Amino acid sequence: MPEKWNFWALAPACPWLDQYALDSRFIIRILGLVSEENIAIKQRIKTAAHSLGFHAFGVAKVPLELRGDYYRKWIAAGQHGTMSWMERNNDRRLHPEQLLPEARSVIVLGMNYYQPDPVRPYRIAKYALGDDYHNMMLRYLKKLCRTMRDDCGGVQRPYVDTGPLLEKPIAAAAGIGWQGKSTILVEPKRGTWSFLANIVTTLDLPADEPVKDRCGSCTRCIDVCPTRAITAPYQLDASKCISYLTIEHDGPIPLQYRTAIGDRLYGCDECLDVCPWNKWATPTLEAKFSPRELPPLRELLAWDEATFSERMIGSPMRRLKLPRFRRNICVVLGNIGMAVDLPALQIVGSGSDEMVAEHAHWAIAQINKRLSV
Ligand code: SF4
Ligand code: SF4
Repeated sequence: MPEKWNFWALAPACPWLDQYALDSRFIIRILGLVSEENIAIKQRIKTAAHSLGFHAFGVAKVPLELRGDYYRKWIAAGQHGTMSWMERNNDRRLHPEQLLPEARSVIVLGMNYYQPDPVRPYRIAKYALGDDYHNMMLRYLKKLCRTMRDDCGGVQRPYVDTGPLLEKPIAAAAGIGWQGKSTILVEPKRGTWSFLANIVTTLDLPADEPVKDRCGSCTRCIDVCPTRAITAPYQLDASKCISYLTIEHDGPIPLQYRTAIGDRLYGCDECLDVCPWNKWATPTLEAKFSPRELPPLRELLAWDEATFSERMIGSPMRRLKLPRFRRNICVVLGNIGMAVDLPALQIVGSGSDEMVAEHAHWAIAQINKRLSV
């Protein structure tokens, strides 16, 4: 785009403008106009993103309106549980433009991770069945940022859960989908199974229009939630959510949630599985997301530190570390275990980790209760 142009050519109804050769970017910004060249730049970035495997692409302008009052009240009510990092950097979280001086746009990218659950007696959230997506997506994002710099200029910052960004509201602002009653992002032609990533950029790209909320009268996600964590439409109490309890929460799992966790070893997909918009989901083509082979739970429980570290290399589940991994196994065995699982539980029940031992004793008691019926 030429740095200076005669605006008269574009705005014949404003004769005062033909006096001056004005800075084009300034005019575009103040009048909300979009140049042909910016549209072409956006299209080139979108094409490059698609070729890297991102099916979803949208742009939101900064500054963004991100329901700061709602977020602050949610934190003040303690509904983020022990995720104390959510209390920090809220100015930047609610104002992505603060992440990069001169930021003009936030690009939102989505990558499909849908796949059917493997057949085994316990469940792992679909996003964690294969390799961790963070490093892989960050690699793709950095590649896209290099292409953008070389092709279009500007300064770019890539984020995959790596900065204080409210991914879902930003994705909604960029027209990728809407935040459904479960608070998850729903894409009109794909549903809920997408990893989200962002590029904050100084490029002034044409923004996409937000899409309409199409939840309608559906309440499936609210009705199915095993722990009643979706307390009302669009209200999630994360401290009750099985994803939080089995992944983020450090320490004992409160007794009132253990039975509801059922066979879920890591995370929960219940409110996603029932979403009717997922009828259009197609399996991911990304081989790295393919499910890992895992043995029965009693064998997982016998893993020591070295085995856990080695077998979990590259898996999102590695972040649990061994005690929380064992804690979760005990809860699931308490719900679905049989007599054959008791010896493995007895071993960790007499171990030195008090938290794990307490969960093992709970599981043993649950299994014995079922056996005595
Ligand atoms: S992930 Fe599971 S526990 Fe969490 S809100 Fe959805 S259905 Fe409820
Ligand atoms: S399950 Fe229904 S209410 Fe929940 S997000 Fe999907 S469409 Fe919306």
